[in-house]
Amino acid sequence: MGNRIFLSSPHMSDEGYEMQYVKEAFDTNWIAPLGENVNEFENELATKVGSRAAAALSSGTGAIHLALKAAGVDKEDIVFCPTLTFSATANPIIYQNAIPVFIDSDYKTWNMCPKALEEAFEKYPNVKAVIVVHLYGLSADMDKIMEICQKYNVPVIEDAAESLGTYYKRKHTGTFGDYGIFSFNGNKIITTSGGGMLVSNNVERIAKVRFWATQSRDQARHYQHSELGFNYRMSNVVAGIGRGQLKVLDRRVEKKKYIFEFYKRELGNFEGIEFMPSNEWNEPNYWLSSMILKGKVRPIDIMDALEKENIESRPVWKPMHMQPFFDKYDFVGTGASEILFENGVCLPSDTKMTDMDLERVVKIIKGLWLE
Ligand SMILES: *Cc1c(COP(=O)(O)O)cnc(C)c1O
Repeated sequence: MGNRIFLSSPHMSDEGYEMQYVKEAFDTNWIAPLGENVNEFENELATKVGSRAAAALSSGTGAIHLALKAAGVDKEDIVFCPTLTFSATANPIIYQNAIPVFIDSDYKTWNMCPKALEEAFEKYPNVKAVIVVHLYGLSADMDKIMEICQKYNVPVIEDAAESLGTYYKRKHTGTFGDYGIFSFNGNKIITTSGGGMLVSNNVERIAKVRFWATQSRDQARHYQHSELGFNYRMSNVVAGIGRGQLKVLDRRVEKKKYIFEFYKRELGNFEGIEFMPSNEWNEPNYWLSSMILKGKVRPIDIMDALEKENIESRPVWKPMHMQPFFDKYDFVGTGASEILFENGVCLPSDTKMTDMDLERVVKIIKGLWLE
């Protein structure tokens, strides 16, 4: 059996950029709390995505939480949320004691279905905010979604945790709505070991987010608090890793794309295989190469066959409206998300994979069609 092949694991730069920034933090004793790496990581990321301001936080989940708070979401408010996503998109709605309404997916993008969104607005015209997700580095159909949300004048939060490096019509995902969030968790396209970023063109709101994230300490010599505080700030050491990783983001996107194209070339013509959608307005980061299976070979067959050879793969996210914790909340749509979940599989997309690794994966999958 060969070495384990991962779905998506941390990949530090060959040049050692991350260590240089971390070493600077150590040498100057700026281990904590804040410092130059945090400020520069915010500036560099904001510049990269084309946003006016950014706040570096301890996780993507924390970033979604503070984005909801910044958008004014509070107790009993309704928030629209894609059903096909990781639970971290939906959990912060509950942290704010608000009420999620789950929106179905669109086969064309695998993301929020504009038609279902429109329907949800008719049903809940008093909705307080809309969260849009860009799954697996694909982008949602932002023109349509923004048009609907602007018609109802409701703030949009983009969960771009999986889509750093992804563009929709040459504009970076996460910069269409009022707020965008990114994640640097260990499995994302770049990682800081753990962390997140909240971006917005509203510079004052971002300043407020930094204030909330550092325990809402008022300007006073004594400890004074007029608002609820959070301990959500990113540390200066972690930000150093992020600055180094940001330098190799383009290279990581290039490799992810290479991996996707390799799979598509080798497997795209097999009966029943349909790869994740391509749209001419979308430049994905190809975070995870994913496909749906419509024939006799099932996702579980592929996952089992790969696991036997020490290769990691995963199902597509299980929709939130099917989760025991969330199934009491309303769902709007026809069930496309359920079909994507039942038939979807994410192939190993680790940027450290060699051509030999890719061939190993492809050979095992092809074998299932010969049985
Ligand atoms: C990873 C992820 C998050 C959460 O980010 P963390 O940094 O792990 O808190 C949120 N939403 C989606 C879609 C994700 O994939």
